[in-house]
Amino acid sequence: MRRILPAAAAALALGAILHAQQPSADLILTNGKIITVDDKFTIAQAVAIKGDRIVAVGTNQQIGQMAGAAARRVDLRGRSVVPGLIDNHMHLLRAGTTWTNEVRLDGVESRKQALDLFSARAKAVAPGDWVYTIGGWSVDQFADSRARFTREELDRLIPNHPVALQESYYRTYLNSRGLEAFGIRDGAPDPADFPKGSIVRDASGHATGVVEGGMGAVRAIAAKMPRVADAALEASTLAMIKDMNRAGLTAFGVAGCDTSLLPMYRKWEAQQQLNVRVFCIDGIGAGTPEQVDRALPRIADLKLFQGDDFIDSVLYGESVYGPLHDPMFDSTSDPKPDQLAQWRRLAMEIAKNGLPLHVHAELTHTIDAFLDQVEAVNKIYPVKNLRWMLAHFNQSNASQIARMKRLGMYAAVHPWNVINGGIMHDIFGDEAYEQPPLATIQASGIMWGFGSDGSAANQYMPFITLNYAVTGKMTSGLKVMRQTISREDALIAYTRHNAFFVFQEDNLGAIQPGKLADLVVLDRDYLTIPADQIKNIKPVLTMVGGRVVYEED
Ligand SMILES: [Zn+2]
Repeated sequence: MRRILPAAAAALALGAILHAQQPSADLILTNGKIITVDDKFTIAQAVAIKGDRIVAVGTNQQIGQMAGAAARRVDLRGRSVVPGLIDNHMHLLRAGTTWTNEVRLDGVESRKQALDLFSARAKAVAPGDWVYTIGGWSVDQFADSRARFTREELDRLIPNHPVALQESYYRTYLNSRGLEAFGIRDGAPDPADFPKGSIVRDASGHATGVVEGGMGAVRAIAAKMPRVADAALEASTLAMIKDMNRAGLTAFGVAGCDTSLLPMYRKWEAQQQLNVRVFCIDGIGAGTPEQVDRALPRIADLKLFQGDDFIDSVLYGESVYGPLHDPMFDSTSDPKPDQLAQWRRLAMEIAKNGLPLHVHAELTHTIDAFLDQVEAVNKIYPVKNLRWMLAHFNQSNASQIARMKRLGMYAAVHPWNVINGGIMHDIFGDEAYEQPPLATIQASGIMWGFGSDGSAANQYMPFITLNYAVTGKMTSGLKVMRQTISREDALIAYTRHNAFFVFQEDNLGAIQPGKLADLVVLDRDYLTIPADQIKNIKPVLTMVGGRVVYEED
C-alpha cells in the first residue's frame, strides 16, 4: 500500500523533483512583463536562459530559484519583452551593399529632418560623391510637410554633390548635378536609358529634377548609385545588421540570397558573431520557355534545409516565371495563358519535389491566375503540407483567401501602404484603403505573417508596420488603410507565424522553454500604450540566442 504524504510534505517533495529536473539558468530576466506570444498569448514575469535557449518562463519567484551561483540577473523594472521580431521577406543581403552609402529615411517623420540628414551626408563625403537613397520612404510619411523635393531646393542645400533620392520604387528626385550626371539637359533629348516621358519637364522644357515612370526609370538611376567599396562591405553590412537589431529584428526570410555575400555571414556565424538569422528564399530564374526547359531538371537538385538555425535555405521563390512578376504600381495586370502555362510547368516540378514556395503575387488578376495554376497542380501533387505562400498580397480579396485556405496555403503579407499609402491612393483610389485586406485575412483564419519587402520597396522597422496594422496610418498620421487588426494579432504575425514561415517553429517565434533565446526588451508596453504611439516604441535590449546584440546607450 502506498503511503499518503501530508500535503505540505508532498509539495516539498514535488518541489525537490522539479528542482532536480530543471537545469540551472545562467541568465535570468525578472520583474518584467513577458509577452510570450505562445499559443495562449501568456503574459509572464520572468525568463530563465541557459546557453542559447530559454529554459523556463514564469513568476519572479519560480524563475529566481533557477539562477545558478554564477547566473547573471537582469531586473527588467517592469518593462515589456517580446519575442525577437521576424521579417518573412526582406532583401537583407543586398541592403548591406549600399547601407552606409545611403541616407536611410526609415522611420523619419519630418521632412525637415530628412533635409538635415541629406545635408549632413553631403558634409561627410568628398565633393562630387553621390548623396543618395535607394527607396524605403516616401514624402507621405512626413508629418510636417508632404511636399515633393524640388531641384532648386536640393541645389540650394547641396550644390557640390550630385543628389538622387529614390522614393520607394516610384519616383526619383535629382538636383542639377544629379541631372547632369545622367546626361539630362535642358534643350537636349532625353537619354535613351530612361522610359519615354519619365523625365518631368516644365512648359519651357526645363527638367524639374523629378523622374517618374515607375520601376524602369527608378532602376536606371539606382543601378548607377555606388555600392560600398569592397573594403567597406563588412562594415556596411555590420552597420545594417546593427540597425536591424536596434529595430528589434532578429531573423529574416531573405529574398535574393546572393551567393557572393553569404560566405561573409557564414564567417560571422563560425565566430559566433552573426547577430541575425538568415533563411533564404532561393530559386532558379526563368523568363522564357527555353529557360523553363533548362530550369526544370535543376529543381530536383535544389538543396534546401542543409543549414542550421542561423543560416539556411528554406523556400523556393520569390519569382517563379519572370514575365509574371508584377510591378508594384501597375493598376492592373493581364497574365497571358502562354505565360501561365510556363508558370504551371515550374510550379508542378516544385510541388513534385516537395519544395515549399514563397512567390511574389501582388495584383488581383495575377493572384487569381496563380491560384488557377496551383489548383491544377494540387490535383496531381497536393500542396497542402508544402507551405506554399503568396507574397506581398496587397490586392487580395476574400474569395482568393478562401481558395488558398482550401489549398492549405498561407499569406506572407507585405503592406507597401506603410510608406506608399499616398502613392497607392493616387493609383488605386479608394481601393487602396483595402490594401492589404488585413482584417479580412485575419478573420479568414488562414495563417499569415508580416514582412516588409525592405529595404527599397518598403521601410524595415517592425513597430512602424505594427502601428500601421493597428491604426491604418502612416507615420505622418495619414490614414491609408481601413482594415485594421488587434495589436495581439499583428504581433503574432510578426513572430510566431513567421517562425513557421521560415521553418523555425520549434526554435523561434515565442518566448517558451526549449526555444532559442531571441527576445527584445521594449521601452514602452506594446499592449497598453496608445495605438498611435506604437511606432515610437524603441527596443532597449535585443538578444539573439542568449547573446545581447543590441543595448541602448
Ligand atoms: Zn517581390
